Amino acid sequence: MAPSHPDPTISRHVAVIGAGAAGLVAARELRREGHSVVVLERGSQIGGVWGYTSQVEPDPLSLDPSRPVVHSSLYRSLRTNIPRECMGFTDFPFAARPHDGSRDPRRHPAHTEVLAYLRDFAKEFDIEEMIRFETEVVKAEPVEAEEDDGGKWRVKSRSSDGVADEIYDAVMVCNGHYTEPRHALIAGIDSWPGKQIHSHNYRVPDQFKNQVIVVVIVIGSSASGVDISRDIAKVAKEVHVSSRSTSPETYEKLPGYDNLWLHPTIEIAREDGSVVFENGKTVYADTIMHCTGYKYYFPFLDTKGEVTVDDNRVGPLYKHVFPPALAPGLSFIGLPWQITPFPMFELQSKWVAAVLSGRVSLPSQDEMMEDTKTFYNKLESSGIPKRYTHLMPDDSQFEYDNWLADQCDYPRIEKWREQMFYIGFKRIYAQSATYRDNWDDDHLIAEAYDDFVKFMS
Ligand code: FAD
Repeated sequence: MAPSHPDPTISRHVAVIGAGAAGLVAARELRREGHSVVVLERGSQIGGVWGYTSQVEPDPLSLDPSRPVVHSSLYRSLRTNIPRECMGFTDFPFAARPHDGSRDPRRHPAHTEVLAYLRDFAKEFDIEEMIRFETEVVKAEPVEAEEDDGGKWRVKSRSSDGVADEIYDAVMVCNGHYTEPRHALIAGIDSWPGKQIHSHNYRVPDQFKNQVIVVVIVIGSSASGVDISRDIAKVAKEVHVSSRSTSPETYEKLPGYDNLWLHPTIEIAREDGSVVFENGKTVYADTIMHCTGYKYYFPFLDTKGEVTVDDNRVGPLYKHVFPPALAPGLSFIGLPWQITPFPMFELQSKWVAAVLSGRVSLPSQDEMMEDTKTFYNKLESSGIPKRYTHLMPDDSQFEYDNWLADQCDYPRIEKWREQMFYIGFKRIYAQSATYRDNWDDDHLIAEAYDDFVKFMS
């Protein structure tokens, strides 16, 4: 059955799950469109992943499903890997503030500056008044047809006041996807006697002093894997990075270090503590650090099987946002990766808000399903595994952003932002040790600041 298009005059009552960058901008866009909004946030502050904490989970690999979850995966030394000018929301520039000691004016600032920016954003748009902090969503499910056939959602949440059971017209899922670790499959690892840790639980290098460390990195987490390896190399005896994307013969000492090597994949980890790489080299390691990325995880969501996570594909989802069978009541903000996230969150949120108000229509359920299947078939015929469904390589992120912008009659992504992202992305790989402090795209910075004038008083 085709989804019914909402009456254009309707203001919906919407639950937003999470007050990270995605939830904040979702709340703003929903309210701008005339909806009433409640943001349910498990933590005690806004900013999600940008709320650095020195706390880690008790289980260093985060395998125990009953463990107390620490949301943020940031390490203390983290600076942004995207230049600030192109990282910010489109109409609230992430501009360098005059250096008064409280802010970090660098182009790739420390994580504290991103949190400060998100706080500025929340303040500017009075977002906090919509947020219920320390309120964890424990269940979100469609209301049974007998109870209500209007496509409503039941949301159960837990706070110090007990469990609340509420009905909403729609739910926007903004719970982030950098908290639930993925692990590398390493032959022999079960009998390997050393320590293992996932980067989710890495904060500072101190515990690795004088140790031999193997850092396993994969596509998608390589920027933080590279950062972490360098961070640890400051104190460790040796750091051996194992990368899936290098050739099997690779054995290189990384420039600027006398204790940091690059290897291909691990062939086997042995009971005697050795780790053998595909290049034939063997090291006796104290610790294996898994910088192997994260899983999409929605433990609170019960869609009666309409949305599943299969090999890290969240689907079926029309344009990575709406499950055809549950649209427009359920939507997901922020699933794509290898992107510049904040502007994309903003455009996805504008689209959802406009669909919910009826200003913008969705295709029929069948058409959305057909479009989604065509997309999945295209990935399959190109040999792209399901786990890369939400990866947006090359031009696809800005094509997608511009498609979203067109849906909502909003200006397309600025050319300078696109170019800056590409140049910045290449710089990460070409000069991974220095890219945050050396660049040659000053002309794009000038263009960005010319544009920012219209949003800054
Ligand atoms: P999050 O920030 O994770 O927020 C999700 C929120 O949902 C959290 O506050 C959480 O408490 C809440 N929540 C979760 N479950 C529940 C529940 N059941 N009930 C209630 N609340 C819940 N992006 C960049 O633009 N530039 C960078 O340089 C950059 N570097 C990064 C480095 C690292 C190491 C990582 C991990 C990510 C980085 N990112 C970077 C990506 C970053 O994740 C996004 O920029 C963005 O902040 C994600 O926002 P989000 O709102 O989707 O998720």
